[in-house]
Amino acid sequence: MKTPDANKKTIVRFAPSPTGALHLGGARTALFNYLFARQNKGKFILRIEDTDKERSKKEHEEDIVNGLKWLGFDFDEFYRQSEREDIYKKYLKKLIGEGKAYVSKESGALEAGERSEVIRFKNPNKKISFSDMIRGEIEFDTTELKDFVIAKSLEEPLFHLAVVVDDFEMEITHIIRGEDHISNTPRQILIQEAIGAPKPFYAHLPLILDSDRAKLSKRKHGEKVSLSHYIKQDYLPQAVSNFMALLGWNPGTNQEIFTLDELIEKFNIKKIQKGGAIFNEEKMKWVNKEHLKLLPPDQIADEIYKIARNHYDTDISYVKKLYPLILDRINSFGDVNGIIEAGEIDFFFKRPDYEKDSLKWKGDSDIMMTKTHLEHARLSLENISEEQFTIDNIKNVLFGYAEKMGKGSVLWPIRFALSGREKSPDPFAIMSALGKKETIERIKIAEQKIK
Ligand code: GLU
Repeated sequence: MKTPDANKKTIVRFAPSPTGALHLGGARTALFNYLFARQNKGKFILRIEDTDKERSKKEHEEDIVNGLKWLGFDFDEFYRQSEREDIYKKYLKKLIGEGKAYVSKESGALEAGERSEVIRFKNPNKKISFSDMIRGEIEFDTTELKDFVIAKSLEEPLFHLAVVVDDFEMEITHIIRGEDHISNTPRQILIQEAIGAPKPFYAHLPLILDSDRAKLSKRKHGEKVSLSHYIKQDYLPQAVSNFMALLGWNPGTNQEIFTLDELIEKFNIKKIQKGGAIFNEEKMKWVNKEHLKLLPPDQIADEIYKIARNHYDTDISYVKKLYPLILDRINSFGDVNGIIEAGEIDFFFKRPDYEKDSLKWKGDSDIMMTKTHLEHARLSLENISEEQFTIDNIKNVLFGYAEKMGKGSVLWPIRFALSGREKSPDPFAIMSALGKKETIERIKIAEQKIK
């Protein structure tokens, strides 16, 4: 029996069946293959396993290819099994010729659509073993598998045959795939031995589970399991890769945020856990937010500007000033529309409308005191120049007064005058973003309302 040759150039493949949209489990398999290929200076192959003609759909293939491109996993070669039938046929003929497979006339009651003739693999009924980089040595007695079907006809190979032939032809050295394929491995090893293929290394990745330890599935968890959901929400591809890498792997340090290049450097397939990996959506949001913060400021401002300009009359230089206040409130760029629709940031772009009574701090009884505070604040702010209108300078001129007169009494009316909202970012930050002129103007309007 041939064993894996550790000195060979690493070649891995991601081999999805296009029977559904690319889900997180599949994308994670692609990621681990990609990382492994790149860190070993090897080859990453994308192979579409579309031998099941009824269930394979072009739209799913497109979704898979687009998903990988969006993630930035450039593949070195691309194949479609439906275009390789001649190759499988050659192997089937050879196996039959050597007595390792046979055409079987099926008798008995056949279900609709079933053939009366199939090609069965002649099981040598033996013990096989393979070494799994995650799970260690696995042994299996193949007797119980009987003579299993490997093709419906010479033109219609089934899954196991096509996988083994392709892995051999493509010289795959490491098979990295989901744990659900462990039970397929013994059949595939028997076929490998029959066609004289070397045995690759295996790594079967743990399942992805929800917090109740149920397998993540489209039926139970809906859109959240599809990669396209995160693309639509404008998640960052590097954040999604980072998050997926942590589904079953960790670096053994406290580091949780990785760029794709760092993952290529630090990922270690041997450190992947055997047990199920728990999917946590809140963590995904957090990881994305951390990656948002790593972007160049101009890029963040630009992304926010592109959304904001559809709703407000604004310009990029203004958005550059206030973007940190928006960044604080979002986990992904996709959230920007949500906070705009909720009216949460309207006040940055237009003057707020409100009743004069809402200017009064809840602990105060006399609204004329509120007016005094507003006026005092306005006059103090006049002393700062437009260029020096920074959060720190604003705080310097207002904070002493606010502490003396009561922070609520002084800062609440200012914040309301600026934003018209009970909940908003810190008033000093709003003032600095709005600029001196607009800040003074809004405080004046509030004073006039009280008069
Ligand atoms: N086509 C199989 C699937 O989508 C994967 C086969 C393999 O990785 O060996 O589940």
